[in-house]
Amino acid sequence: MVEMTASLVEEENNRIVSVLLSVPPSRLYDYAVPQELKVLPGDIVDIPLGNRRVLGVVWGPGSRAGPSIKIKPLLGRRPTGGLSAELRRLIDWVANYYLASPGLVLRMALSAPSALQERKPLRGYQDSGSRPARITPQRARVFEVLSNCGPCVLRDIVRSARVSPGVVQQLENEGHLVVSYIQLPPDQEPPNPDYRGPQLSPDQEHPARALRRAVADCKSGVKLLDGVTGAGKTEVYFEAIAAAIRGEGQALILIPEIALTEDWIRRFQLRFGVRPWAWHSEIGAATRRETWRQASSSRPGVFVGTRSALFLPFQKLDLIIVDEEHDPSYKQEEGVMYNARDVAVMRGKFASCPVILVSATPSLETHRNVDVGRYEKLSLPRRFGVASLPDVEAIDMRLDRPTRGRWISPRLDKALRQTMQAGSQTLLFLNRRGYAPLTLCGSCGFRIECKSCSAWLVEHRESSLLTCHHCGHQEIRPTCCPRCAAVDSMVACGPGVERLAEEVNKFIPEARVRLMTSDTITSGDEAKALVQDMLAANIDILIGTQMVTKGFHFPSLTLVGVIDADLGLSGGNLRAGERSMQLLSQVSGRAGREEKPGRAILQTYLPEHPVMAALIQGDRDKFVREELEARREAGMPPFTRLVGLIVASARQQYALEVARMLVRKAPVVSGFEIFGPAPAPISLLRGKYRFRLLVRTPRKFGLQALLRSWLGRIKWSKEVSVRVDVDPYTFM
Ligand code: ADP
Ligand code: ZN
Repeated sequence: MVEMTASLVEEENNRIVSVLLSVPPSRLYDYAVPQELKVLPGDIVDIPLGNRRVLGVVWGPGSRAGPSIKIKPLLGRRPTGGLSAELRRLIDWVANYYLASPGLVLRMALSAPSALQERKPLRGYQDSGSRPARITPQRARVFEVLSNCGPCVLRDIVRSARVSPGVVQQLENEGHLVVSYIQLPPDQEPPNPDYRGPQLSPDQEHPARALRRAVADCKSGVKLLDGVTGAGKTEVYFEAIAAAIRGEGQALILIPEIALTEDWIRRFQLRFGVRPWAWHSEIGAATRRETWRQASSSRPGVFVGTRSALFLPFQKLDLIIVDEEHDPSYKQEEGVMYNARDVAVMRGKFASCPVILVSATPSLETHRNVDVGRYEKLSLPRRFGVASLPDVEAIDMRLDRPTRGRWISPRLDKALRQTMQAGSQTLLFLNRRGYAPLTLCGSCGFRIECKSCSAWLVEHRESSLLTCHHCGHQEIRPTCCPRCAAVDSMVACGPGVERLAEEVNKFIPEARVRLMTSDTITSGDEAKALVQDMLAANIDILIGTQMVTKGFHFPSLTLVGVIDADLGLSGGNLRAGERSMQLLSQVSGRAGREEKPGRAILQTYLPEHPVMAALIQGDRDKFVREELEARREAGMPPFTRLVGLIVASARQQYALEVARMLVRKAPVVSGFEIFGPAPAPISLLRGKYRFRLLVRTPRKFGLQALLRSWLGRIKWSKEVSVRVDVDPYTFM
């Protein structure tokens, strides 16, 4: 009996595969392949887990040695294409590098559930051959459309023949059209690389040639396209995309922000004649499904999306572009905490295709990679055409104070009025949402804080609520002080964009003012409408938070006023200088992008600060050199590696104890340093107390294995969570 079981299982062993589960416990498990099924690594399969049916991906041959009767059979294989070896390798790499659960990473690659279903045939119509006695012009057009394209879905007939659906249905009722099912959706017309090619300037021709060649060579390697704002970087990297289209490959372009997609797609369409495939969290289920399927077919295509597009199941990836590579949005701060720019570089390596990083203000990491020869730099030092870079000047707020109750200094006010008189547009930048960042009691000094976070509540006048920007908590603004009960004593402190708009409306009432923040622009459509209003000159003064700094091109915008240029420099964050420099040069770079020259005015209390000096002198590279030198001296990235650990719990004591235990049991290895625990800058978030630890190691160091064994040795209560952030971007 025992022998028989063993031999049966042995035979089965050839048909045992290991499958990565997309749901917790999110790791590899062995499953038996039923006789009638044939599976290959990468295939998407259904497996039994308890009494559920869950998705997994075949990762390789079964790992379990020897007979076991516990192995359950797979339930079935999905009809879609699977995940390529290159993508599976990427998933393994991400899980390992960021210490994430492999199943969670896999989930990002399977995030279009409906794409995994059998494709339902579409109901279409076909010409039956018979002709009605009475042929109207509409009916004639229907027959003409069908004679040109074969079976067609109703929507397409209606559009192409310019008829109402009733005309088609009537023809069906009379038997002149018959229903016919269509298996595949009609292939989208491919982008045309020669649709409207630009005349590149001599400055642009050199990098464009290098990029075209890189795509044609089909080799991995990273290029940095480093060009000032308005240099035509997009036009230049479009040439790389054209080369990928000519080679019938797939190209992926990552952009940092959903709000930018529509503008990007519009430019793509002008250049290549069709829309690209889009991917981000806002697209509808149908687009999601078709984009996923297109990527997983080996058909060529150009795909644009936010960071999650990196995990699409491409089969023929020939090019990856990361636009605005320095942008913090590429860092995902929840779930799998990865940096999409860095993962893009790895995907390019595994897929053997070039990766192009694009920016006017590359990150220090990227500058360093250029310095040591890992990346090749291509420069565009001048703006395209007659446009020149804006003049940047500082207003020393200690000498040129705004009058009481105002935030705009007299000099900026004057420049604003001049700009309006000249018929041009102004952008006022203030990186603070809402009306006022703080509300306090004028009699006792009480400050209104969030009950579950260590943060002040921000007043929003549009919604008449006080809001916590960390947890979303909202409450009504009290009329008397919650502490001393003084009546009408609560005052708003400091400006947010809403308050700035109020100031402009009061002092320059003739100006047409509009806000652009994540509160006012919540969808791609709203962003598109606002861009159109700017282009149609229906707006004189645009007031915005960092949303306005990214990529927009408004030809009549000539003045940029930065209300508080010092805002990003406080807090002692590792990246404060770098980030301020990037933000302020991006926002200044919105001015004077065509014939009309631009001007940027920074209101600052620190005009001698290296960031301000670099902006005023237009010497970015000096700043980068000095900042890199300072990082080297301090032993900070990109010269070392950091890992942040956040220990959180609703019980402060528990979190602190676990944090201390982590330090006590930390590896004692040369090169491994640990700092903390210290209360996190946001020491209370959503009701959880938070402590931070910081690990620092040299760049070449077996970091992940060490972290894994250290954290694996320690047990802690379920009431405490420990989050690991490899290469942290923020330290909040
Ligand atoms: P960047 O991405 O470097 O900020 P863009 O690619 O947006 O710059 O180019 C700035 C402006 O110059 C855009 O309006 C763009 O269409 C135009 N432009 C750049 N290069 C060319 C070119 N070779 N021919 C025509 N227009 C160009
Ligand atoms: Zn809160």
